Amino acid sequence: MRAVIMDAPGQITVGERQDPRIIEPTDAVIRLTATCICGSDLWPYRGVEPANHTPMGHEYVGVVEEVGAEVTTVKPGDFVVGSFVISCGRCEICRSGYPSRCVHAVFVAGNIGTQSEKARIPHADGTLVAAPGQPDADLVPSLLAASDVLGTGWFAADAAEAGPGKTVAVVGDGAVGLMGVLAAKQLGAERIIAMSRHADRQALAREYGATDIVTERGDEGAARIKELTDGLGAHSVIEAVGTEESFLQAIRSTRPGGHIGFVGVAHEGVTLPMDEVFFAQVHLHGGPAPVRRYLPELIQLIWDRKINPGTVFDLTLPLDQAAEGYLAMHERRATKVMLTL
Ligand SMILES: [Zn+2]
Ligand SMILES: [Zn+2]
Repeated sequence: MRAVIMDAPGQITVGERQDPRIIEPTDAVIRLTATCICGSDLWPYRGVEPANHTPMGHEYVGVVEEVGAEVTTVKPGDFVVGSFVISCGRCEICRSGYPSRCVHAVFVAGNIGTQSEKARIPHADGTLVAAPGQPDADLVPSLLAASDVLGTGWFAADAAEAGPGKTVAVVGDGAVGLMGVLAAKQLGAERIIAMSRHADRQALAREYGATDIVTERGDEGAARIKELTDGLGAHSVIEAVGTEESFLQAIRSTRPGGHIGFVGVAHEGVTLPMDEVFFAQVHLHGGPAPVRRYLPELIQLIWDRKINPGTVFDLTLPLDQAAEGYLAMHERRATKVMLTL
């Protein structure tokens, strides 16, 4: 099968990999309908994380081709959406609502790689969710978004306790931040402040429900949030970048007693001044989003056309042109690239 391989940082090839097959009785093999490139794929692309003939991709929708003997919730022919982390669905951590930290968790990125024609999905029952039927073509991008960026933005908004009567500030205007805006709106937030300095992303944020735009960053950005909230700070802040600056911006934008949902992946060297964290007196909850927990609800919202997160993809290319997709995201010519099979 054809698959995207990152030979070394910045070097993308679409080459041949062996067709996946059922190994464990809990496996499923799916044929991808669509996949995409993630902001987190840019970390190895830019050499921040290692890349050595790495199978790329962790977001996916597709049709089940074959299942192992113990799989009960999906069957051949089902259109499925999966999480970017494999989870068993049975362990105590999964059952408590944190499948991305399942005791059997495997990150799809770098291990399975779904920028490919097919993929073997272990623990299919605990990882995949079947859609109610075969989706119309225009629903496919939205279902694909649920696999990571929507699910992650949703978790961030939920962790930040976005809801009725709340002012939500969103740090980061990438795909996940934009999905955080959409999620905050769906969860009933009264006011949603998107922090962005890019006109195209501001427009998308407004489409998803942002009521205010703040273009300042860092301490100036936090000061603007305070100004807009009677000097108190937002009730709920979504952190969707993962740098020291963005995290401090989030903490300084949150009122005492408020909540921060943080989903920007922090890398080595990101540290926080703990004296400031101590006196900020905010709730911090984040990490790799437990997307599988939200998938049934998100798939239904998309199926019923109540949300349209698929508009976050602003460039669509065939899988064979994946290298151009990476370059477009690296150069910020695209927010999020969908790859079609
Ligand atoms: Zn992703
Ligand atoms: Zn588990």
